[in-house]
Amino acid sequence: MSQILIIYTGGTIGMMSDPTTKVLRPINFEQIMDNVPELEKLNCKIKVHSFDEIIDSSNMNPAIWSQLAGLIEANYDAVDGFVILHGSDTMSFTASALSFMLQHLAKPVIFTGSQLPISAIRTDAKENLMTAIEIANAKKNDRARVPEVCIYFDYKLFRGNRSFKYNSSKFEAFRSPNYPILAESGVHLRFSVNDIRQPDEDRLIVHKNLVSDVAVLKLYPGISPKVVETILTSDVRGIVMETFGAGNTTTDQWFTEMLKTAIDSGKVILDISQCKVGTVELGRYETSRQLRDIGVANGYDMTFESAVTKMMHLLGQLDNPKEVKRLLETDLRGELTIS
Ligand code: ASP
Repeated sequence: MSQILIIYTGGTIGMMSDPTTKVLRPINFEQIMDNVPELEKLNCKIKVHSFDEIIDSSNMNPAIWSQLAGLIEANYDAVDGFVILHGSDTMSFTASALSFMLQHLAKPVIFTGSQLPISAIRTDAKENLMTAIEIANAKKNDRARVPEVCIYFDYKLFRGNRSFKYNSSKFEAFRSPNYPILAESGVHLRFSVNDIRQPDEDRLIVHKNLVSDVAVLKLYPGISPKVVETILTSDVRGIVMETFGAGNTTTDQWFTEMLKTAIDSGKVILDISQCKVGTVELGRYETSRQLRDIGVANGYDMTFESAVTKMMHLLGQLDNPKEVKRLLETDLRGELTIS
């Protein structure tokens, strides 16, 4: 019988309303299990690892990502797949980070959670949990059907590093506009076989080192030299710059000069768009050509979540900023499409 490891980190799925304060707080995994007797009927064995501290995912951080990656590494040979219960607020960040940390992944790592606690009558948690387990356990010719880090939520399976949370009040909380969904569940569970990545080698390599010295420069018309300078001269090695449209910025000389000074001093600047759909095309407009010329990295159609975690991952592996830039622009785990 196959075996699935459920890792419980927290999130609404396992929360209960405090009777006096009415605030939602995490509960332990046994209380979750009590709400899902169906778990007994599955055709796989379930092992559970519950984190000592059960958290709301707003408290998620890179140290916990490293712990998660270590847990997956330690159990990798013993189980067929992983289901990670996680709050939806930062689930796409964790899934993106894990996708970079787990190189040559050949087993499913499926994140899920819910918008309503598992004990609530109208909860979305049960379907999310049961189908996530089914996906983690799905095989064809003895190989995992989805050997990727994914998010399963509201009947859809997303590539983790292509997803983001876009709705805090609907069950349909996630989207992945720049990449097709990997599976859809209805009467049948249908996999989009051609969109699912297969590992190029069968030898998991786990990169646990992340450097979180990353700043974000989000542009808006009228942004002042003082604000830009504060961000660019802060004590970080990487800057994710959220630009307009197809990767465009102001062509004001002061702005280009500040970016160039930062790059010349060894910082890496990555250009991603504020648009949720579409891609950065450096050089398409006059307002992005200067960025390419001074050595800004092209983030193509990466999500913000992927851009930040990929930067942390690469800064944790490499010292040479040119090499970091080259790999930021390379498709490592299906996180970007080079146009
Ligand atoms: N605040 C919760 C969390 O991210 C929301 C959720 O789980 O959906 O932990």
